[in-house]
Amino acid sequence: MSVTLRVPDAACARQRTDDQRRGVDFGVTDWATFDDGQTIPNPRWVREELPRLAALQRERARKRQGSLRFKRLGRRIAKLHERIGNLRRDFVHKETTRMVQQCAVLATEQLAPKNMSRSAKGTVEAPGRRVRQKAGLNREILSAGFGMAHQMLAYKAEEAGTRLHLSNTRQIKPSQRCAACWEIVPKTLAQRVHGCPHCGHVMQRDQNSALVVLIDANTPGTGVAARPKPLPRQRGKSKSVTRETPTTTAQAV
Ligand SMILES: [Zn+2]
Repeated sequence: MSVTLRVPDAACARQRTDDQRRGVDFGVTDWATFDDGQTIPNPRWVREELPRLAALQRERARKRQGSLRFKRLGRRIAKLHERIGNLRRDFVHKETTRMVQQCAVLATEQLAPKNMSRSAKGTVEAPGRRVRQKAGLNREILSAGFGMAHQMLAYKAEEAGTRLHLSNTRQIKPSQRCAACWEIVPKTLAQRVHGCPHCGHVMQRDQNSALVVLIDANTPGTGVAARPKPLPRQRGKSKSVTRETPTTTAQAV
């Protein structure tokens, strides 16, 4: 007799299979970029379902509010929105589990406060009038997944005994700092390559950021204890946060 157990993804996160130390940068071009240049591209639904959602919302914007067609489109939008939410949750679950399983140390940047990622175009549920700027809408939906990723990483890291390090964005400025010489190199969001005028280091922008947070995680003295989810607001904190699991702490003592 044989018994097959189906174990949910989250439960599998407890088993770490490797002891890598990795920095990861979450972004819009690729969903994630690691310090070694590896990327996790955005999944197919980002290219297919998000444009459909934007198209439906544009269509509804042309209908008279309260009309039958307006309501009908509203139901379709809600359904598609739910579908995207499910796809996103599955995707983020799968990828965060894999990250945590591979890593003894995982470093990333603190989550931007909500008011920074919110656009003038309203929320996903109630988009503003300028929904035709679908790039902005897509960006918003994508960044909603970063909060989910952070939450999942926090509890899965704890389960797996992975040290999760969150670099303080204001202090470290991972997207502006040179991973080779630690100087600040200002860049606009459109500049996808980091080219350092101080030391000549050239690297793809997101990879450089991932390397910066990894170096930050490896530098003693930059970390203070963080709590698992929900992620606290880091307003006013001046240090990067790092969370050691009880087992790791016990080994260190
Ligand atoms: Zn440099």
